[in-house]
Amino acid sequence: MIPKETIDKIFESADIIEVIGQFVSLKKSGSNYKGLSPFVNEKTPSFMVSPAKRIFKDFSSGKGGNVVTFLMEHEHFTYPEALKWLANKYQIEVQEKEQTPEDIALNNEKDKLFIIHKYANTFFHNQLKDTQEGKSIGLSYFKQRGYDLTTIDKFQLGYSPENPKAFSEAALKDGHKLDLIIKSGLVKTNEKGNYDFFRARVIFPIQNLTGRVIGFGGRTLRTDKKTAKYFNSPESEIYKKSYVLYGLYQAKNAIIKQDNCYLVEGYTDVISLNQAGIENVVSSSGTSLTEGQIRLIKRFTKNVTILYDGDSAGIKASFRGIDLILKEGLNVQVVLFPEGEDPDSFSQKESNSIFRNYLQENKKGFIKFKSEILLSETKNDPIKKAETIKDIVQSISAIPDQITRTVFLKETSDQFDMDEQVLLNELNKILRQNTYGKATQYKPNINQPKVVDVQKSKKKTFNQLEFQERDLIRLMLMYGDLGIPLNIENEEGELVEQHYPLAQFVIEEMVSDKLSYVNEDYQKIYNEFLDALENDLILNDQHFINNPDQNINSIVVDLTTSRDHLSENWIKKHNIHTKTEGNQLKKAVVESVTIFKLRVTENLISNKQDQLKSEEKENELINILKDIKQLTNVRNIFANELGIIITK
Ligand code: ATP
Ligand code: MN
Repeated sequence: MIPKETIDKIFESADIIEVIGQFVSLKKSGSNYKGLSPFVNEKTPSFMVSPAKRIFKDFSSGKGGNVVTFLMEHEHFTYPEALKWLANKYQIEVQEKEQTPEDIALNNEKDKLFIIHKYANTFFHNQLKDTQEGKSIGLSYFKQRGYDLTTIDKFQLGYSPENPKAFSEAALKDGHKLDLIIKSGLVKTNEKGNYDFFRARVIFPIQNLTGRVIGFGGRTLRTDKKTAKYFNSPESEIYKKSYVLYGLYQAKNAIIKQDNCYLVEGYTDVISLNQAGIENVVSSSGTSLTEGQIRLIKRFTKNVTILYDGDSAGIKASFRGIDLILKEGLNVQVVLFPEGEDPDSFSQKESNSIFRNYLQENKKGFIKFKSEILLSETKNDPIKKAETIKDIVQSISAIPDQITRTVFLKETSDQFDMDEQVLLNELNKILRQNTYGKATQYKPNINQPKVVDVQKSKKKTFNQLEFQERDLIRLMLMYGDLGIPLNIENEEGELVEQHYPLAQFVIEEMVSDKLSYVNEDYQKIYNEFLDALENDLILNDQHFINNPDQNINSIVVDLTTSRDHLSENWIKKHNIHTKTEGNQLKKAVVESVTIFKLRVTENLISNKQDQLKSEEKENELINILKDIKQLTNVRNIFANELGIIITK
């Protein structure tokens, strides 16, 4: 942790023109500076820096913020990394708060792992390029796969020799400790001694976001079936498979510029696409796609295009991928390849321009994609059609944003020529099942404080409560300043429809029932909304982006990254009219507030039930039972309201 005083000093010292000027060529224009956006390809400058306000705004990508935000966006630094970078530039001493002995031990271990991986990476790469064996076996294999030297260097491909001790002997000779080499998974031991895990394989180093090597994949060059085609490094303190995407380090800038990320199956697909001039491509090698991986993509774009092979396993994987991606609030498209081809083989077979055309022409939205696949065999079977529609509505129900759900529901109703209301009923049925049925629906992500010291029995309601708190905060951040239509009494006592800021509505609902949030970070965000409202201000997500509290910062970014769904263009494109939008918002927020109150009541009931177990005095017992009864009545009222709201 960097102390607050130091952070203030860094902010005071940093000259935003000087810092951004290091990355973007800026020209003075009035009291501001202008330049070409570093985030998108453009010919006319739309990137502006204001030295007076000490902010930048990129009108092409919509990004904006202070000098630290810029470094985080452009260099993909974390908040502390950006601060340290500036501190270094302006010669400000950063004394971080003291680390515990455990912190130090863990950091040491991580550092040591980074060092051994870096060493191994250089070793394998040199073997490939500078040794007779590496050149004649490894390099010629890559060449035969169509990879040129630029690509081989870009991905730092390597070769691990036939000699089972080649790596371990070199590493030991250069002073690396055996226990650490073994911990990294690079060397194994058996009764005959040490041997290299990746022996006689070509090597694909796996890099983290900053380019450091954290693991390896190795492909055998033998054709016999006795050994697995691919070996992968085990997980370690520096390699957590569900939070790593192969190729992301090389792809991130292209992903930002293209505002799209291609998702493929493996190492060879990533590399072949690069070879074909497509750089915005990553893969979840070695694991099936995870939430953590999608959140990584979300830092760079909101658009994912899945490229899988057209066999049934590929289709199944893409269906699973679609729902996961939708659940994170991203847009998803799919391209399938002809039977027997994967992105690797197809891009090698066809010319670059044919391949690119193929992607453009075969790219489909998930609704069209799913319906075509599911209906492909039995076009006119009504039962099959009904199942397909249900399947698609199920996918739509994964989307966190209600307005986006409505848009896709409309698309489905057009596609199948079906009444929107019928689809809406089906959607609401699924949503209701999700709200009441599955407590496991919500898994706290890594950025959020884990629910600790809560007894198991309580955990379920507690999680659901926190989930609901999150939803309310999300609505306030994304749509807080938008008006929702409410019937409000005027001076003559007549009810008139007025637009009322959504955030104010939520706050008044909370204040009048004396409610607060369990999650401290959400409460902090809420408190800032409350303070601002006392001065007649409605905050929006921008307000929080500069928040020095890294937790708040990342929560806000995480919760609001689909705001562009509501941008004017998007609304126009999908024919959402402001009036309906207001009504949709109203419905979303009333529903969310009511579910929140329901969860609070359930939490109170479960607390009372715990008291019941330990209480011994009879009259106290009776009082608790009375409370439970009353609370249950209240709970039922909310549940009832919700039933009406949901099915309406
Ligand atoms: P071939 O030359 O036989 O087509 P390949 O090396 O292209 O072999 P495929 O079997 O086609 O490999 O698999 C495609 C991709 O899936 C590979 O690029 C690889 O990254 C990935 N893959 C396959 N099996 C594994 C595995 N066990 N672990 C990690 N990645 C794997
Ligand atoms: Mn292959």
